[in-house]
Amino acid sequence: MMTTNIDQLTEQYPLVKELIELKEIAWFNPSITNLEEGLPYVGLGAENIQDASERLKRFAPYLAKAFPETAKTGGIIESEVVSISAMQDVIEREYSTKIQGRLLLKKDSHLPISGSIKARGGIYEVLTHAEKLAMEAGLLTESDDYSKLFNEEFRDFFKQFSVAVGSTGNLGMSIGIMSAKLGFSVSVHMSADAREWKKNKLRSHGVNVVEYEQDYGVAVAQGRKEAENDPTCFFIDDENSQTLFLGYSVAGERLKKQFDEKGILVDAQHPLFVYLPCGVGGGPGGVAFGLKMAFGDNVHCIFSEPTHSPCMVLGVHTGLHDEISVQDIGIDNITAADGLAVGRASGFVGRAMERLLDGYFTVTDERMYRLLGQLSESEDIQLEPSALAGMVGPVVVTNDGDYRKRMQFDDTIMSKATHLVWATGGGMVPEAEMSSYLEKSGL
Ligand SMILES: *Cc1c(COP(=O)(O)O)cnc(C)c1O
Repeated sequence: MMTTNIDQLTEQYPLVKELIELKEIAWFNPSITNLEEGLPYVGLGAENIQDASERLKRFAPYLAKAFPETAKTGGIIESEVVSISAMQDVIEREYSTKIQGRLLLKKDSHLPISGSIKARGGIYEVLTHAEKLAMEAGLLTESDDYSKLFNEEFRDFFKQFSVAVGSTGNLGMSIGIMSAKLGFSVSVHMSADAREWKKNKLRSHGVNVVEYEQDYGVAVAQGRKEAENDPTCFFIDDENSQTLFLGYSVAGERLKKQFDEKGILVDAQHPLFVYLPCGVGGGPGGVAFGLKMAFGDNVHCIFSEPTHSPCMVLGVHTGLHDEISVQDIGIDNITAADGLAVGRASGFVGRAMERLLDGYFTVTDERMYRLLGQLSESEDIQLEPSALAGMVGPVVVTNDGDYRKRMQFDDTIMSKATHLVWATGGGMVPEAEMSSYLEKSGL
């Protein structure tokens, strides 16, 4: 984007001025449509999710062997949904706002293997690639028991190939650990904000960690470049990958099953609000797509970003998508929420999903830290800062009278609502690191 256009941009979009001032904003998109109208723009459908779901089932026997912590769920990587009513009380008091309906937490923070939402998309894309290579070589067919992949012969086969990815940390963890386990030689290109312990953990799994002094965008670009020079190297493209997106989307049908088991009803009289922390957009976008396909128009997905990295709301609100970065409008993209430190949104997610996403809001790092401490005190659940980005979502929705009026969410309906905060990471944060997070909460 031409830098001279900032004045014009803020004139046309006053919200951009507030973003530049690092204010906490909320924007509920008036141009959303129903699923039927919005779906064609996604370019993917139920059959693609089904395909991903079946692939994950084929790999389940392998995962149960390769990662014994997944054996109790039969090799299916899934997280719990828990009620956080004590936290609901804390939020109501802190924000002097009654949250109608119930507050739940989706603990992707505690997903096995990599302890974040990236255990969905990242692992799925590595498995998809491995399956393709093994099938092309005539070593595997769909009807095989995939636990046979847990074997030196297969590791030797995959050793001929490499995998590369650029990451702020968690995607690198998922892709690095999964690729190394299969036998691939794998390079993770880490942005400056990536935590030291994540790099060390990866090195302990035999992953080649390449460090950068710059942000996520540069790490991804370098990873892409390196892979281009090596025909055996597969680059996982967090900014554009539909495979990653589909890996995340399987969460929709899984959540629906969990809700059915718990007797949680979602329909027009019982809306479901889901609050998703957003970085480049693939994780929350893919999950939102899966949720829409599972719950239809009765689920309302709302993205949350740090005030210092509001790339998705900037891209969608201005219609410029990946043609504008937060740096273009003078924002530094420096945040403690490392999974969310992304300056430029995915080129595909915003365009594909904007009609199906109810809204967006931003939060300060300070607020994420405080919520982190409050959740730890009230529920004894410890998360990384990024994972708290969605926690004020119910307050944002409750206080936005225009949005609720437009959507006809009156008190009767809101009193039967379910608010689901998607906790995206934190389960593997070392104790010392967690203590320093808790200290920063100021509680
Ligand atoms: C990656 C990540 C997100 C957001 O996912 P994107 O695909 O980057 O939008 C949210 N929270 C955590 C902890 C993450 O690691």
